Formats: sequence, C-alpha cells, structure tokens
Amino acid sequence: MSEMLERAVRKKYKLKKQAYFIIGVFVLVVILFIGVIASGIVNTIRLEHRGYKADTVHYFKEHKLTKLVVNNEEYAEALDKAIFEDEFEDKYAKDYFDISYSHAIKDFEKNVNLLLKKGYSGKTASHIVNNLSKEDTDYILEAKYDDGIADIFNTGFSANDKFLRYINFRAAHPELSTKNIVTYVNIGLDQANYTDAATIEAPADLLVLVNKHNKIPDNYEPDDLVILPVDISAGEQMLRKDAAKHFEKMAKAILEEKELIIKADSSYRDRNRQGTIYNQYVTSHGQEAADIYAVMAGFSEHQTGLGVDIANKFNDDITPEMPQYDWLRKNAYKYGFVYRYPDDKQDITGFNPEPWHYRYVGEKTAKKVHDSKLTLDEYIAQLPTKSEDPKPAD
Ligand SMILES: [Zn+2]
Repeated sequence: MSEMLERAVRKKYKLKKQAYFIIGVFVLVVILFIGVIASGIVNTIRLEHRGYKADTVHYFKEHKLTKLVVNNEEYAEALDKAIFEDEFEDKYAKDYFDISYSHAIKDFEKNVNLLLKKGYSGKTASHIVNNLSKEDTDYILEAKYDDGIADIFNTGFSANDKFLRYINFRAAHPELSTKNIVTYVNIGLDQANYTDAATIEAPADLLVLVNKHNKIPDNYEPDDLVILPVDISAGEQMLRKDAAKHFEKMAKAILEEKELIIKADSSYRDRNRQGTIYNQYVTSHGQEAADIYAVMAGFSEHQTGLGVDIANKFNDDITPEMPQYDWLRKNAYKYGFVYRYPDDKQDITGFNPEPWHYRYVGEKTAKKVHDSKLTLDEYIAQLPTKSEDPKPAD
C-alpha cells in the first residue's frame, strides 16, 4: 500500500518536473524573442539618435549592416548620404567610417565611390575629396590607382596645394623616397632658382624659410631691429631684438670659455642693400658667379634680421681653420643659432658652404635642428601639416 502510494507520488512528481521544464524552455524562448525585438528597437533608436535617417537604418537592417554601424560609435555622415543618394556599395561599408563629410563638396558621394572602386582606402579617399582641389581630384580619378598617394599624405607634412608637384617630381626622380620627394618639393627644389618663387606669408616668423625658392615680400622690414654692441660688431650691425640678445650671450660665452672673440660682420640688410650687393657681384664677377656666390634681393636671410655672418677679432669671416669654427658648430644651438649652409648640402640649401653664416631660430628649435642633423630647409619642410580642415570646393 505504501509502496503504491510512493510510486504514484513519484510519477506525479516526474510529470510535474517535465511540465516545469517545458514551461521553463517556453519562458526562455519568449524572453529571447523579446530580447531580440527589444535590441532591434534599441539599435534603431540608438542609430536614429546618432543622426541616421530612418530610411538609412532600415537599409542597414536589410543589408545586415546594423551590427557594423552600431559598433562604430561615431555618426558617419558620409555613409548616411551615400545610402540616401543611392551611391552606397556594401563592400565599401567599412571605408565610409573613415570618410569625413563636407557639405561644401560637390559630387562627394560619387567621387568617394569612384575612389574606393579604384582601390583607395576610406582614409585616403577622404583626404582627397576633403583637401585637394577639384583639378587634383579629377586627375586622380582619371589616372590609374597609385598607392604612392597614400604614402605622400602619410608623411604628415605634405601640403595640399603642392600635390601635383609631388607627383611630377616623383616621376622625374623615381630614385627618391616619398619622404624626400615631399621634403624637396616643400623646400622648392622642383623649381629653378628664383623662378616661380613663393612669396613668404609670415616673414616675421622665427621659423621662416628663406631660400632661392621662397621670397621675402618686397615691403617687409622687421620692426624690432636693434644695434649690436660695438665690441661684437664689425661696423654698425643690426639684428632683431631676440637674435641680438642671444648673439651677445654667445659672444660672451666663447670669450669666457675659450678667450675667443666673435663679431657680427654682416647682419641685417634691407632689400636695396641686398640688391646692390647682388648687382655689384654680377658686374665684377659675371652672372654665373653671382648666382652661385650672391643672392638676389628678396631671397637673402639677411633681410629677415635673423641671419648673421660671424667674423673673428680681425673682422675676417670664420673659416674651418679658425678655433671659433669648432666652438660655434658645437655650441651655437645653445644660443638659438643654427649652422645654415653645411658643406655637403648645396643641393638642398642652394648655397655653397658658408662656414660663417648662422641663423637665429630660438633656443628650443635650434636644439631640435641640431639634433636632427637636418639642414634648416629640411627641418622646416618636414614640420607637420597644420590643419586638415575640409576646404570648400570651388
Ligand atoms: Zn650670410
């Protein structure tokens, strides 16, 4: 009797257990189902909240792109527009997140797609459509895919308005690295001396690059020139205030350390004076020699009030044989001066070696230039490109 009861109880219990199990599974399925729907709704809200149009969100769902888009925290306006304009292609979905969108650019989606189709990455396509001129963009769209273009941008110091010059210079010099191509074009070496020179925009800048390709504006005159003390000058010499102060400090240091005298032998020259020197050189030595040893008005660092030719106590310009030479090469940077025209860098500086010519750039920069072992031309040419703000289309 008790055994029968026990069996009945056990059977009932077993049935109950099965029922619980079925109910449990059912509840789980319902929860999962609700979960899926809820997460779908949450994703929709999230994406719309980020800025995507309802139609775009629907498109993501249909094309199984929701997860990809949700995982990219930023709103990709380019992606939204491409879908809206019916220019979107699934296989480039990821690239769209690397593209910044600018309202000002015409045919944005179309050009982006053409570039992606050609093989450019989203990042490169974005740089092209946002920063290059319409002519340059058209050039790239018409030419074959060129993986060197990304290399040019990736140097970090390419100038958008020099794009075609990089391309042309690279074609003429396949032996050069991309870094050197961009550096040399930034210096101006792709153009003949004095021809097509760029006019310097900020001639008062301590880091101004003056060479045979970058011209000082005709009306520029530094507004903080001071006369150097007579004991460190050969004749009346002027430099910009900060440069003068540091030249004095440097002269004092070499005197104290080595009992050697240095003097400013030639410092600030105005445009007229520079022109006169050049013309005199042409008259006495001929045009060819003048172009090697003299500088046309507008192209001399002396016009900035930051360049100085240094002499010894007899007013003779410093040469490598003089004890001052070694000291200056080793120590001038501590006073903000850089050795401007090194012996084996004529091809870059455009100047024959001038063991006496130094240029003031400030202590911080002088140390960096000194440590880099670059010429000032190269150092300035490799300064990071400033803003990459999208430029308006013309
Ligand atoms: Zn000089």
